[in-house]
Amino acid sequence: MARESIYKKYKPANIPKDVTNTPSFWFIFKDYKMLAKVTETGISIPYGTLEELEITPIRTQYLGTLEGKFCYSAELEPGTESPDEMEFRDLMSIYEVLDEDIFLLAGKALQTVRWDRDHQFCGRCGAETETSTYEMAKICPECGFKSFVRLSPAVITAIIKDGKLLMAKHRYREDMYGLIAGFVEPGETLKEAVERETMEEVGLKVKNIKYFGSQSWPFPHSLMVGFTADYESQEINVDGNEIIEAHWFSPNEILQYPSKISIASDLIEWFIFKFDKQKKLKLNKKRNQRD
Ligand SMILES: [Zn+2]
Repeated sequence: MARESIYKKYKPANIPKDVTNTPSFWFIFKDYKMLAKVTETGISIPYGTLEELEITPIRTQYLGTLEGKFCYSAELEPGTESPDEMEFRDLMSIYEVLDEDIFLLAGKALQTVRWDRDHQFCGRCGAETETSTYEMAKICPECGFKSFVRLSPAVITAIIKDGKLLMAKHRYREDMYGLIAGFVEPGETLKEAVERETMEEVGLKVKNIKYFGSQSWPFPHSLMVGFTADYESQEINVDGNEIIEAHWFSPNEILQYPSKISIASDLIEWFIFKFDKQKKLKLNKKRNQRD
């Protein structure tokens, strides 16, 4: 993947800071929807003080700075109306039109808001928690139990056999073929997760597993870790549970795939570039037009 590190522009914060009366970027959520400024030229994140924005959140979390400007996540009471010229939008539905750094921060904000909301009380003893003053954590004053923002790593793999890519239809996404993916289980390595998921979902053994890249995926709290692998043995045998169909596709047979911001599309384009020079030319042309 060619994207630059978010840390070139963004400095994270571990220590809570109350500068809410200073103009800041606000990643504000009501349920799972984010408040966005929608204009003819695009979608942007509200910037200003809470007073200027006429917003009264029930909880706020300091996230650090983006290009020197303060950033907050915040949660609104359910039923709150959106201010003028702003709308609540599902993050998944706007990720293609948001600047990539803003999308990544919005994802972090969404996960932080959810974590704060879901850890108001201790999961061990039920006492009300307190926010740590020196790290991003909730601490139980009764039993000392600490909760950090949850992150669930998942693997996604492009499996190749004789110049063809394995693509599968997932039960939750029947309109499109995608790659084999699944959550990492406790106790296993990423490589073992790739082997297990591939065997469980499509009954295949793979070899030459190579790291490709990773991506934050805040739906709801994943870290997607991408791999490439070669087919080793066995016949396709879908589990019928998560996967309902799977086939080998040559580059020319791939007509539709997930949107450009996901690591799945990076993996599929990597495969197309590797095995089909004609399509590579077309993709480059399409990308240039898009840019
Ligand atoms: Zn406790």
